[in-house]
Amino acid sequence: ASRFADVAQAPPDPILGVSEAFRASTNPNKLNLGVGAYRDEDLKPVVLNVVKKAEGNIFSRNENKEYLSIEGLEGFRRATVDLLLGQGHPAIQEGRVAAIQSLSGTGSLRVGAAFIARFLKGATVYISNPTWGNHRNIFGDEGVEWKHYRYFDAATVGLDFKGLTEDLTAAPPGSVVLLHGCAHNPTGVDPTPEQWAAIADLCKERNLLPFFDVAYQGFATGDLDKDAFAPRLFVERGLEILVSQSYSKNLGLYGERVGALVMVVQDKESATRCLSQLKRLARALYSNPPTHGAKIAAEVVNNKELFDEWKVEMRGMAGRIERVRGELQAALEAKCPQKDWSFITRQIGMFSFTGLSPAQVDNMTNKHAVYMTRDGRISLAGLNSAKVEYLADAIVDSVR
Ligand code: PLP
Repeated sequence: ASRFADVAQAPPDPILGVSEAFRASTNPNKLNLGVGAYRDEDLKPVVLNVVKKAEGNIFSRNENKEYLSIEGLEGFRRATVDLLLGQGHPAIQEGRVAAIQSLSGTGSLRVGAAFIARFLKGATVYISNPTWGNHRNIFGDEGVEWKHYRYFDAATVGLDFKGLTEDLTAAPPGSVVLLHGCAHNPTGVDPTPEQWAAIADLCKERNLLPFFDVAYQGFATGDLDKDAFAPRLFVERGLEILVSQSYSKNLGLYGERVGALVMVVQDKESATRCLSQLKRLARALYSNPPTHGAKIAAEVVNNKELFDEWKVEMRGMAGRIERVRGELQAALEAKCPQKDWSFITRQIGMFSFTGLSPAQVDNMTNKHAVYMTRDGRISLAGLNSAKVEYLADAIVDSVR
């Protein structure tokens, strides 16, 4: 018998498992609204034009495949911090930003979790309820204790700001608060600018460390600067922050694993020391980050022409999602006018949090071959006009 005979079968991942089930389905009407990956109107994956152009430039330079340094590609790190804070931000000029290129959003979060485990011993990380499912794994596997703070109010299909405030006020000083920079996953509900300011003040008063997960910059409003409002506001208010950034969605670099962990701290000396420790952690985790995707991102952000073209393409993606949101809401209002469906266009980003129960989700999948996560989240990036009616019928049948 194998020495591994006692290793138990792990459950399928609640998000990536949906894609596996979708691929296995033979239903010709099947629809994959599980994973948050952008699709075009033909529901095909998209490689952005700016990415193709950037790759052309990179290939023409005939570069080598040497290792990057542990902290990653210099031009990429600069571009990524510029994208977050805005070019020429005082914190950049003062040298108090530490940035390490890492394995997309997930890997950057994990390096941040490892940093918390080592240097903020005993700190609890507060994550929103609900949140992206992998947050729990990332901190849990690093041995960091996590707790929920209230976030979503099912009655209003909006933010439970009172609950959030109460829970963060009750958090012990020195705790970490994980915040979604924009386009909260899975709810599509973000704090207003005034609420963000109040959260920043609360973090300051209660000595909480904000850790922003920025996975959808550009996907909330279609504008990179507007979507960086919250982390910029916190820095303006004098808070030190951690940020994980990802180019998976906004540049469509999913499989290239492109992102960074950024720390904005009070002074240059702390930034230098923190970066040295981030490198120490990364060295043991994966040694150094991959080259190709970082070169693409740097090429796009640092080249004015490509940068402008990227913004147009991003608005195109955000715009298509907004359009199908409107169409889905209209179809549901027509088919089931007794229910309020306005939340669909109030929610922002890639997702709609439908309020469907796990049993209703099972009906969506088993009867209608609509694949989605069991928390009731659907990715509108996987929907097109041609499928709106079909989806609306499935939803109405499931909520009856
Ligand atoms: N954070 C959130 C909230 C996400 O939704 C995702 C992806 O779905 C990620 C982080 C990480 O994605 P990646 O590791 O591909 O950058």
